[in-house]
Amino acid sequence: MSIDRVILFIGPPGSGKGTLSQKCVQKLGWQQISTGDLCRRHIAKQTEIGKSIDFAIKSGKLVSDGLISQMVFDWFRQENIESDVVILDGYPRTVNQAKDFDELADQLGDSAQVIVVKFVIDDTVVVDRLVNRYICKNKSCQQVYSLSAGSKLAPQSDMACDSCGSELIKRKDDNADAIRERLKVYHLHESDLISHYVQAGYEIYEFKSDLPIDQLFTEFAETMGGRAHDSNKK
Ligand code: ADP
Repeated sequence: MSIDRVILFIGPPGSGKGTLSQKCVQKLGWQQISTGDLCRRHIAKQTEIGKSIDFAIKSGKLVSDGLISQMVFDWFRQENIESDVVILDGYPRTVNQAKDFDELADQLGDSAQVIVVKFVIDDTVVVDRLVNRYICKNKSCQQVYSLSAGSKLAPQSDMACDSCGSELIKRKDDNADAIRERLKVYHLHESDLISHYVQAGYEIYEFKSDLPIDQLFTEFAETMGGRAHDSNKK
């Protein structure tokens, strides 16, 4: 399958990049890579890479650019890509990664358009979301829940997944210190990263991501379906 579009999701932690990606996978048949998931897979399998990045992840710091770009390059080389649209969730996060990705995009061929999407949300909303976020422990499910008062994402039964019944757990980096660090790191790189793409002539598709997920998905899918097919650059 040749790739038509690679959509880069740039946004703070907890801005719903993963949830929106999942919707796109389920409803549009697109494919998604999350560099956070690739890292957590290494940690779970206790690979050498996993052992070397465990501390960075737990404390909310970035993994080195070289290691992350290599994971993404390997994914494109090894993965059986079955969709013409691929979402990159959480990559690139730094200008160095963006430069690495520019090289990869060249290798994907002329037909592959790169589309840059930026999510905007208040830090206070992010903190509330992440402090209250629980995920299904079952690796093949990983459904996301919220224990925030009145949230539509609350599980129906106490601390068990509605879909598969497994226990709900917290991610190791969803604690107050790591959340603060992840937000700080995101804001440190965001404007340089966006400038990299603006200077290269890309349009930045911006979405407010404090909307209910179904509404965000509808707006996003309409925008991507309507305009982004035609041209990635202004
Ligand atoms: P979030 O965006 O909510 O922090 P992710 O699951 O996307 O969560 O990422 C979790 C962690 O994985 C990050 O805090 C970082 O340590 C590591 N990581 C993921 N993507 C990158 C990246 N592109 N560059 C460096 N580190 C990354």
